[in-house]
Order: sequence, then structure tokens, then C-alpha cells
Amino acid sequence: MDVDDPSPRVDGGGVDPPRIRRLEESVVNRIAAGEVIQRPSSAVKELVENSLDAGASTVSVTVKDGGLKLIQVSDDGHGIRFEDLPILCERHTTSKLSAYEDLQTIKSMGFRGEALASMTYVGHVTVTTITEGQLHGYRVSYKDGVMENEPKPCAAVKGTQVMVENLFYNMVARRKTLQNSNDDYPKIVDFISRFAVHHINVSFSCRKHGASRADVHSASTSSRLDAIRNVYGASVVRDLVEIEVSDEDAGDAVFKMGGYISNANYVAKKITMILFINDRLVDCTALKRAIEFVYAATLPQASKPFIYMSINLPSEHVDVNIHPTKKEVSLLNQERIIEIIKNAIEEKLRSSNTTRIFQTQAINSSALMPANTQKEKGTEVKMSSGMKSQKTPVSQIVRTDPRNPSGRLHSYWHGQSSNLEMKCDLVSVRNVVRSRRNPKDAGDLSSRHELLTEIDSHCHPGLLEVVKNCTYVGLADDVFALIQHNTHLYLVNIVNVSKELMYQQALCRFGNFNAIQLSEPAPLLDLLLMALKDDELVCDENDEEKLEIAKVNSEILKDNAEMINEYFSIHVDQDGNLIRLPVVLDQYTPDMDRLPEFVLTMGNDVTWDDEKECFRTAAAAIGNFYALHPPILPNPSGSGIQLYKKNKDCMTGGEHVDRTDEDDIDQELLAEAETAWSQREWTIQHVLFPSMQLFLKPPKSMATDGTFVQVASLEKLYKIFERC
Ligand code: ADP
Ligand code: MG
Repeated sequence: MDVDDPSPRVDGGGVDPPRIRRLEESVVNRIAAGEVIQRPSSAVKELVENSLDAGASTVSVTVKDGGLKLIQVSDDGHGIRFEDLPILCERHTTSKLSAYEDLQTIKSMGFRGEALASMTYVGHVTVTTITEGQLHGYRVSYKDGVMENEPKPCAAVKGTQVMVENLFYNMVARRKTLQNSNDDYPKIVDFISRFAVHHINVSFSCRKHGASRADVHSASTSSRLDAIRNVYGASVVRDLVEIEVSDEDAGDAVFKMGGYISNANYVAKKITMILFINDRLVDCTALKRAIEFVYAATLPQASKPFIYMSINLPSEHVDVNIHPTKKEVSLLNQERIIEIIKNAIEEKLRSSNTTRIFQTQAINSSALMPANTQKEKGTEVKMSSGMKSQKTPVSQIVRTDPRNPSGRLHSYWHGQSSNLEMKCDLVSVRNVVRSRRNPKDAGDLSSRHELLTEIDSHCHPGLLEVVKNCTYVGLADDVFALIQHNTHLYLVNIVNVSKELMYQQALCRFGNFNAIQLSEPAPLLDLLLMALKDDELVCDENDEEKLEIAKVNSEILKDNAEMINEYFSIHVDQDGNLIRLPVVLDQYTPDMDRLPEFVLTMGNDVTWDDEKECFRTAAAAIGNFYALHPPILPNPSGSGIQLYKKNKDCMTGGEHVDRTDEDDIDQELLAEAETAWSQREWTIQHVLFPSMQLFLKPPKSMATDGTFVQVASLEKLYKIFERC
């Protein structure tokens, strides 16, 4: 048997393990190089960073064939000493770091001494450089980390020029994928544009080889907005607002952020996020997501933001050494920093968009709907085709009996009685009218401020940590969901947390809600009567008393209409019709079956004569209405399906009809219930949980009132399994 054969041999019953051998250094280096220089744009980024580290004030980039044929970066920096040229392109040679501890305070972008070396393993590198005071420069080429020839004297202008030719010439697969995929040039332009926005005192240019015009050409300037205008155009700058924030809680502010963010007028399909942390161009996925979420929650869906943000932290708070190309960094207190930035952006957006009226826009509902709801679209058309779309009295469209398929308020959404159709429209209708008020009026109200401070002071830090960093596992039953945090599993009461989240959001968005427009005005009186019909406290026989109560409550709401409209976007017109409701959480509309109860609570339970109590009770009523209660229709899964059996007497009119089990079930009602339940499940996972992680400040009471219950610790479970 050949001892060098690495493949395992099956001989009789035995398997020879493959031999372990030391890789040749050139192979190791080439593998490592492939990691550092993943594509032409990563080479450009490394070279430009070297130029910036060398103190250049001009950096010019020329690219041929998306960087595969040629990348040339020239700068006017300090140049490279003649004596250093022999080791310039060896792995781990650098002028920026000598001891590991230096990493803690490093200011330069490079420090690993790997970039140039890597390029010589996967391409042909030629360096031309001159240092100050020299009469001539030197040119030298490198291959596999070493000089190919002695440095040749040559004429040179101040600084360094690095030329990389035939990148990945020796990595066939990489070259092929890059050739097949879109050319890397746009990515290169993108990098240079970002550098140009941040390093405003350096002038950058980037062009294709042989092109007379540069695709990025920035001149050194003292104004950030000029730099952004230069690269991204005047139309972007017009819609930017400045943002600045620092960590006020910390004695000596350790964290500072400054930059520009787009306002509500800015329209783009994709987010542009230019992030520099301690002057390093980096990605921070968590921060990017949080920002996108704030924009989606505050502004119309269609537009993604433009963000330029520069964050400064003490260098010992940033671990730059977690990624070979230093693309991602890890921060101390990342959660906290993200939270502060998120709040600052939210505040900024609200206050900078005081006059904008948003256009009506239909969003693509299919993108937001769970897959199983989309499937039902097919049936829904058929079912709705024979139905009328005239106005229906409110008493017939509000569900008062869970088993009664006729009678639900959903038809208000689009004036159609088709309940299934509504379910898609329900999501798309939310953008109908968005008008904003001057948040100053509302923002300065001290009682609202006190309520927000109470939320903060009651927040349970342990639970906050659990909520922020948990993973959603799934629904345990109708009310509880299972989440995992580190090695612990918790049951979370969905109704309680969503109620609290909505309450807090109602106070946070106070005076600045987007609106859900009801497509037909809903008379308060009818809604109140509906609610009272279900109310067991009011004696059933006494209809007159009910009418009286309804009238009183309707009057109370009409009297306070201006206030509830202004602060909570609950719009009641002069005739006592409900017209609009607030968007408390983006992408979410409350269960309209609960609207009558909500109106009754607003009329009955809100304290109107004390400002703070009024805000608290109104926000609580909103919280209760918008919470993710189980749908009124019973859960049809498992034995729940029995509840959807038809009432035989009524269905057959006394005649004897042979029925299969299938026919016994009220299919329409069942389909509706299934949709409601699956939609709720989808919403819990995709809307409630992400929002909870970003916004909820769980009160201390939730640790003891059964809202969060720790059910298992994985360590203990493992121990149990070990024993088994
Ligand atoms: P690093 O930047 O991590 O130190 P590199 O391989 O990118 O490693 O560069 C190695 C060294 O070469 C740098 O430390 C620097 O001293 C020198 N160098 C590279 N590019 C330039 C340049 N454009 N101007 C001056 N010196 C440079
Ligand atoms: Mg470098």
C-alpha cells in the first residue's frame, strides 16, 4: 500500500486514518493571501489604507478589467525607505506595530503586515517609491513575498505607487468566479467614495485605465457636506440632517458619534451606510439593522436611509483584530452604543420632519404576508366575487359572536365585506395618510416626560439583557412563546409583553404617529353599543340604559376629540365617527374585532381631568387594544376543529341530509380562523420580537408576575442527559 496516499483505505473491516503532513510554506501563504485579498476591491482598500497611513493628501486609483488586469494606487505620502524594500512584502513585516500591546492603542489602519505580502502571492506587485530629500526613487517587483530583482533607481514624484497586475493569476477558480460575476469596479468606486466622504482633507480620484474622466474625484475641503455633495451629488445633501451624540452618562464621555443622516424626503431603494469607527471604514451589521429598523418604524417603508457616521471610542474599547481584513470590528458595550445611536436618530427624524405630508402609497403586501396567507389569495377572489361592496351597518360587520362569520369590522378597511380579502389589505392599508405635527407641542409636555422616565426607572436590567439578546424559539401555546438566552430557556407571555410594548410605544411616538385610515367612518355610537352588548355588567334587557351609556361615552370622546387626535392620532370627526387610528408599531394593525371594546375603554376608563393620568390611561387602552391577544376565533388546531362544526338544525332546515365529517365543518370560518392564527404567529416572530428587542424596556414586575418564566437551563439539562 502506498503510504503517501492520503485517502482512507477500507481494508477488510479496518480504516487507515489519512496521514497528516505539513503544508509547503508557499501553499500556506497562498491560502492566507486568498483570505486577506478576497477580491480586487479588497486589494484597493488595503492599498488606499496604506496611503492614508503614510499621511498622503492625494490618492489616485487606476483600475483595468475590474482590477484583475491592473490596480494602481499612487500617493504623495512619506514613501518607503530604501533599506526596507527587501522585506517590504514579506509576511508580517510592518512599520506600525512592534508589540502585541500596541494593538490596544493603534491608530493606523494597517498593523498586520500582511496586505502587500498577500498581494505578491496572488498577483504581480511592483512598487515605486521615493522618500523626502532623495534625488531619485526606486522601483522593484515582488513575487511570493520576495524581491524579484534589486531595486532600480528611477525618476519618481513624492510618495509611493503600488501596481498589482494579473490578480489571482494562480487561483483559477477565484479568477473564473470573478470574471463571471459582475466586475468589481463599482465596488472599488464605492470604497473610494466612502473614503472621500470621511477623509475630507485628502483628495481622491478613481478611474478606469485609459479613461479621461475619473468616476470619483474629490478635492480636499473643510466641509463634510461639500465632500458628500462632491461624491454623492447635491440631491443627497439636500435631504441630510446633521446628527451628533455622545455618552452623557459616562463621566468623561467615552463615546462620540457625529455624522449626517437622511430625512423623510430622501428616497432610495437601498441603504447607504458609511460607517467609520475610530477612522476605520468598517461594517457593523447590528448597528445597520437597528438603524434600518428605526427608519422603517418612523418613516414610510419605501425609502432606505443614507447614513454617514463616524464613531470615536477609546481604542482599547475596540477590538480591531477580529477580521483578517479588519472589515468588522467588535466594540465594548456595543448594545448600549447602538441603543444610544438609535434613540438619537429616532429623535432627529421626528423633529426634522415636522411639515412633511406623506403620499399615499400601497406597499407590496405579499412581501409582508406569511406564506400560508398568500396561498389563500387564490380562494379569496372567488369567495369575494359575489359579494356586495356597499356600506353595511356597523352592527353587521363587527363580530360579537366568535362563531358568527358575518359581522366583523374588518370591512371598514376597504369597504368590502370580503373578510379574507381584507387580510391582505389590512397590511397594505397602513400607509394611507401620514401627517406629522410639530413634535415640540407634544414633546415638551412634562407629564408625558414623567411617564417615559417612569418606564426607564422601572426597567429591569436583567430582563432587558434577556430581551435584547434572546433568540426566538417558537410558540409554546396560545399565549406563551419560548425564547432562549445564553443557556437558559424562558416562557414569555405574549399578551403581557406586547401590551407593555404598545403602551411604551404609544408614549414614545406620542404626537408623531403615522395613521391607519379606516376606509369608512365608523360611528362611535354603534361601536359602543356593540361593546355594551357583550358587556355582562350591563343588564341585557335594559337596552335604554345601554343606549344612554353609549351616548355619554360617545360625547366624552367627541369632547376630547382634538386632544386624542393630536396626541394619539385617534381621529373622531364632528359627527362622532371614528376615522383614523395610530400606527403604534410599523407593519402592524390591531385586531379589529377588538375595536368596540377599545372605544368603550377610551370612553369609560380614561381619566380626562388629570393630564398625566389621562396620558397613562389612554396609552394603556391603546396598549390593550394593540396587544397580540389570541384571535377571537378559537384556535382550530387539534381538537379545536370541533368548534367549527356547523349547527345541523339550522343548516339543514330540518331535512335529513347525509353529510360526511368534512361537510360538518364550516369551511369558511375555519379558513378564516386558520389565517388569523397563522398570521398572528408570523407577526409575533417577525414584527413583535424584533421590535421588542429594539424598544421594550421590561418593567421589574415582569420578573415576578409570570410574564417571563425560566423553564430550563441547558447546563442542567445536559447534566441530566449525561446521567441517563
Ligand atoms: P500594514 O499596513 O499592516 O503594516 P502592509 O503589508 O499593508 O502592512 O504594508 C507593510 C508596510 O509597508 C507598512 O507597514 C508600511 O510601512 C509600508 N507601506 C505600505 N504601503 C505604503 C505606502 N503607500 N507608503 C508608505 N509606506 C507604505
Ligand atoms: Mg496595510
